[in-house]
Amino acid sequence: MSFFCIPIVCGIKQWDKQYDSNPQLNSLYCPNCHNYSVGPVKRREFISIWFIPLFPIYWGKQLRCPICQWRQDFKTRQQVDKVVQEQKNLAR
Ligand SMILES: [Zn+2]
Repeated sequence: MSFFCIPIVCGIKQWDKQYDSNPQLNSLYCPNCHNYSVGPVKRREFISIWFIPLFPIYWGKQLRCPICQWRQDFKTRQQVDKVVQEQKNLAR
C-alpha cells in the first residue's frame, strides 16, 4: 500500500437548471438538428477534485438543445424574448 496509489479524481462538474418553465420558451427551434426542443437553462461549470467543485469556469445562461447538445449563451431575458418573437414571425 502506497500513499501515491490514491488517485486524484479531477474533472469538470456541470449543472443545467431550468430557467423558465414556460412551454413557449422551451420549444424553440434548434438551428443545428431542426427540432423544436431548445430551452433556456442556467448553467454552471466547475473544476472539481474528488467531486468537490473548486473553481467556477462558467457561470451563466444558455439556450440549450437537449437532443444535439447545441448551446448558445444569452445575457438577459429580453434576448430570449426576442428569439421567441423572431421564431413566431418565421412560423407565420
Ligand atoms: Zn438540436
